[in-house]
Amino acid sequence: MKELELAIVGGGIAGMSCAVYAKRAGLNPVIFEKAALGGQLMYINRIDNYPAVKPGSTGAEFLNVLSSSVKELNIEVKEEAVTRVAAEESKVVISSDDKEYSAGSLVVASGASFRKLGVEGEDKFAGRGVSWCAVCDGYFFRDKKVAIVGGGNTAVEDAIYLSSVCSKVYLIHRRDKLRALDYLQKELFDRGNIEIIWNSVIKKISGDNFVKEIEIENVVDDKKSVLETSALFIAVGIKPNTDICAGIIDIDNGGFVITDEYMKTSCDYIYACGDCRKRPLRQLITAASEGAIAALSAYRYLKNSYVSY
Ligand code: NAP
Repeated sequence: MKELELAIVGGGIAGMSCAVYAKRAGLNPVIFEKAALGGQLMYINRIDNYPAVKPGSTGAEFLNVLSSSVKELNIEVKEEAVTRVAAEESKVVISSDDKEYSAGSLVVASGASFRKLGVEGEDKFAGRGVSWCAVCDGYFFRDKKVAIVGGGNTAVEDAIYLSSVCSKVYLIHRRDKLRALDYLQKELFDRGNIEIIWNSVIKKISGDNFVKEIEIENVVDDKKSVLETSALFIAVGIKPNTDICAGIIDIDNGGFVITDEYMKTSCDYIYACGDCRKRPLRQLITAASEGAIAALSAYRYLKNSYVSY
C-alpha cells in the first residue's frame, strides 16, 4: 500500500488552496480528483465578491491562475475517484478505483453536487435540454426561450447570464420571494427579457428527443399550466459529496461534515473544508480560506508542531 503524508480528496478551490498552503509549509500533499481540477469553479460565469479579483472575472479565469500554482509547486494530482475512506490507528486508508493508499492525515474537500428536482422527464432529458450548468450549456440555446428553476444566488446569476444569450428567460420559483443577494435581484428585475413565475413548481418535463415543454403548478391556487421552452436549467441547491466519510466522521442531517474552527472533524487527523463542510457562508473566499486553515491544522498534527496560524 503506497504511503502518503497528506491526502486531499477534491480538487476544487478548497482542495487546491489546501494543497498550495500545505506544500508551501513543507508537506507533501496529494490531491485526489476524479475529473479535472476545478470543481464548481468551472461552472461560475461571473465572480463579483472575491477581493482583488476583478469583478466579472469568470470561474475559468480564476481556475487558470489557481491550477497554475498547483502545477508550479509540483503538487501531485491523482485522477482517481475515491470510493472509501477508513480511519485506522493514526492513519487513514483511502481506496480509489482499484488502489489503496495510507495517509498520515486526510483533508476532505469533496465539495457538493447539484440537487435534482425529482420530477418526471428530468433524467430522460438530461443533456437534451435539461441542464445544471448555464455557463456550460446556455450557448446551445442562443436566441431561444429557456426556463430556469430556483430562487437562490445560482438561479438568479444564471438567469442573468442566460438573458444575455437567449431571447427570453422564465425564472420559476416556488415562493413569492427570492433568497438571492439584493444586488443580484436588482439586476434580474432590470433585465427586460426575464419573466418570473412566482409560487410555482415544475411537475413534468416533456418533449420528443429534446425538451419542448414543462408542466407547472401554482402552489397558491393549484392551477396547472404548460410552458413552451427549449431548455430547463435546474438550480435548486447543492448536496454535499460526503458518502465516502459516512460512519468515519460526524456528519449533520444534511450530509455536511461537522468541524471545529480549525477544520478538524471528529477524527483528530481528518479535516474538512469547502462546500462539503457545515459552514455559515458558501463562497469562493471562504472555501479558499478554509483550505488554508485545514492545511495548517494538518501540518500541526503531522509535524507535532505548534506553528501559529
Ligand atoms: P440555495 O441558496 O440553497 O438555493 C436553492 C434554491 O432552490 C432556493 O431558492 C430554494 O427555494 C429552491 N429549491 C430547493 N429545492 C427545490 C425544489 N425541489 N423545487 C423548487 N425549488 C427548490 O442554492 P444555490 O443558489 O445553488 O447556492 C448554493 C450556495 O452557494 C449558497 O450558499 C449560495 O449563497 C452560494 N452561492 C453564492 C453565490 C454568490 O455569492 N454570488 C453564487 C452562487 C452560489 P426556497 O428559497 O424556497 O428554499
